[in-house]
Amino acid sequence: MSATAGNASGAGAGAEVIAGLARLPGGCELLALATEREDVALVGGAVRDLLLARTPRELDVVVDGAAAAFAQELADALAALGGGAPSSTGHQRFGTALVVWEGGRIDIAERRAESYPSPGALPEVRAGTLEEDLARRDFTVNAIAVPLSGRLAGELLCAEHAQEDLREGRLRVLHEGSFLDDPTRLLRLARYSARLGFEAEPRTAELAREALAAGALDTVSRARIGAELRLALAESDAVAALGAISELGALAAIERRLRLDESLARRALALLPGDGRPDLLLMASLLLPLSIDPDEDPEPVMFELLDGLEFTAGDRECVMRTALVAPGLFKELSLAAKPSEMHEALSAHTIEAIALGGAMGEGTSSVTAEAEIWFERLRHVHLEITGQDLLDAGIPAGPQVGWRLTHALARKLDGELGGGREAELTAALELDVR
Ligand code: ATP
Repeated sequence: MSATAGNASGAGAGAEVIAGLARLPGGCELLALATEREDVALVGGAVRDLLLARTPRELDVVVDGAAAAFAQELADALAALGGGAPSSTGHQRFGTALVVWEGGRIDIAERRAESYPSPGALPEVRAGTLEEDLARRDFTVNAIAVPLSGRLAGELLCAEHAQEDLREGRLRVLHEGSFLDDPTRLLRLARYSARLGFEAEPRTAELAREALAAGALDTVSRARIGAELRLALAESDAVAALGAISELGALAAIERRLRLDESLARRALALLPGDGRPDLLLMASLLLPLSIDPDEDPEPVMFELLDGLEFTAGDRECVMRTALVAPGLFKELSLAAKPSEMHEALSAHTIEAIALGGAMGEGTSSVTAEAEIWFERLRHVHLEITGQDLLDAGIPAGPQVGWRLTHALARKLDGELGGGREAELTAALELDVR
């Protein structure tokens, strides 16, 4: 593939991108720095999004070497604006650097060319031209750049078909071997199709099906699959992204028992309070078929899967506890009649598990309603008194202090106490522990 220099419409589109860039946080500083050198170009998703009149989530920039130094200059220019201090981090080995500040995030990479020593392996990388940098990309709509300086400043450079694919809403790989070289592109295909509402171009769709059927996802490390899966889970409509991955057959290729129940997932997300983790809830929902499989101990299977996908230990624990507990919580919720019984059933569990368990109650709407009541009214109910108040009242130290507090909380939850510490203390002291 060769990148084609912009024609008349390319130049117009390039100007549109530059105007859009100037309106974004950090855009003017980037453009100003670019005028001092020849090699700075905006690339990939940022150009695509500006041409689609969408706001890029981040800016991707390439330079001809010394990415870290450029990132530092950019961070200094942004710092001069005041506000939160930008941080710039460079990865010398990968020739990449990142500037993060309160206004956003700019990824800087040294232009490179890539070749794949074997299917699914990490590519071998060397310094390259802008054209070569575009040729290593996943889809035509991402193989697109606007140099911000130098001879071609303001031109749109792109892979063949890129502009028509953008216009028509098509995802097209750059060459026949693309999915075999890097099978994570299968997940990217589904994620972009859900996010942008684009369709795979027919030959690309065929190549994706062939790659999956040939077991391409087995040739790539689980860590890289996990990284792409996490990007899907972080999409603003993650259910749609997972839906597209599932429809493509890529979910089952990761683990045959993973299943997406879209309506369950959406109901659970609707229940989840703002301090919950939608990504972990969704991941847990995919694992539900494992947790109700009577023939296998689900815990080691889930552990191995999530560990291989390189979920952090904390996230893995939350996903597993959510997936393992939710089906049982659904049953317990359907039996709990009073708030104190709901507290007993729910208080030890993750909010993700409660949302998922509550959402499993479609048709048993009382279960969903109970989860809602728990989140809105009950989960933050606490006693004003503490164990020390009971000790001060003459209760000997030991397990009965806990029993009495639990009893008082149950009565408070069930609305049986007038407000205030005195009522709580009376309730705690009334328990007969003989
Ligand atoms: P986002 O809007 O989520 O930031 P993006 O399109 O910028 O999306 P990134 O994952 O940030 O995507 O990647 C930046 C660019 O790097 C992409 O536009 C694409 O050109 C390229 N890219 C990323 N991963 C791959 C891959 N596996 N194969 C080829 N190109 C890739």
